[in-house]
Amino acid sequence: MTRHALPPNATIGIVGGGQLGRMSAMAAARLGYRCYILTPEPDSPGQQVSAGITLGEFEDPAALRDFAAHVDVITFEFENVSAEGLDLLASLKPVHPSPAVLRISQDRIAEKSFVNAAGVPTAPWRPVETLAELQAAVADLGLPSILKTTRLGYDGRGQTRLRTPDDLAPAFEALLPRPLILEGLVDFACEISVIVARGADGAMSAFDAVENRHRDHILDLTFAPARIPDATAAEAQRIARLLAEALDLVGLLAVEMFVASDGRVLVNEIAPRPHNSGHWTIDACPVSQFELHIRAIAGLPLPAAVRHSDAVMKNLVGPAEMALWPEIVATPGLIPHLYGKAEARAGRKMGHVNRLFPRGALPGEYGVAAALGVLGTAAADSEE
Ligand code: AMP
Repeated sequence: MTRHALPPNATIGIVGGGQLGRMSAMAAARLGYRCYILTPEPDSPGQQVSAGITLGEFEDPAALRDFAAHVDVITFEFENVSAEGLDLLASLKPVHPSPAVLRISQDRIAEKSFVNAAGVPTAPWRPVETLAELQAAVADLGLPSILKTTRLGYDGRGQTRLRTPDDLAPAFEALLPRPLILEGLVDFACEISVIVARGADGAMSAFDAVENRHRDHILDLTFAPARIPDATAAEAQRIARLLAEALDLVGLLAVEMFVASDGRVLVNEIAPRPHNSGHWTIDACPVSQFELHIRAIAGLPLPAAVRHSDAVMKNLVGPAEMALWPEIVATPGLIPHLYGKAEARAGRKMGHVNRLFPRGALPGEYGVAAALGVLGTAAADSEE
């Protein structure tokens, strides 16, 4: 343990009250830490399992100062927090990851510029300020392509696929704020992610690459490990470690990547926080992504990010999947997690389910659907 390790019973401040903060707080509690939340939302998933809360806006200096006064070290659980607010916090208490890392991940142009500068490929992209720039960018990158807002996009919000020249003007008018970013469409074989933890001493620990399947732009299933060639998995790990190093990260970094149909690995997005595609680690690994996050920001040693089991994670999204809850908790082998959200609105992540398999025995598509029981059937139905 380093000299600067956070002692037991210290308080970790988490900016944001969502499920990522909730599961981080649960991991912190096991290590003997308390968590204290800053969120504008009453009765948030994070607050329900934390020692205390400052109820206030992320931009409100009084709320930020009150929050900082209650904690020993600060982290954040989602990226749409104000970077200026995080700067103020960093003037009061240690903040990990740093506001500089947050700024890069908040803006798709800054993010892709950073990734490319580190020597890592992405989809081809162009910044777009005006309709004329969009027309020039489409002339470069071709159609179809994807026009995205640069900030505050998540779960497919703030992006439109451009298929014909007639799509340009309406898409440009609809997407705000500008600048926007145009991305060439990647012909991908699959989407994968790697989650890496990095300590202040530069030590790193990375989980194996996993495969992610989306439905309606929201993560639906994660297969751990990804069923990709060893060389591709090694390349994905190399990229994640390289980016964590280049960011001088202290904390956790999730790197979402495309495996292109020609086998190349391209970065789509980075997120300096726990990630939905790492929820399987709670049950399949001795040390989960949430524990590695807490260890990294607390200055504790980082154990190897190994798994004792293969796993599939299925998200529970919206009222239809929540309605299956009684059957889910009655199904042996399904490991349920709920986030304590009062209302199951459409598209809202309410919880997830993990299903474990012996290492090396992750079944194929039909085996996974069968192993998910009522959720496997639901997933198959909704894809029709
Ligand atoms: P994002 O919000 O950038 O993570 O995009 C959401 C989803 O849209 C991704 O997980 C992909 O399935 C798809 N997508 C985004 N960008 C591209 C791209 N350049 N090429 C192909 N698919 C993309």
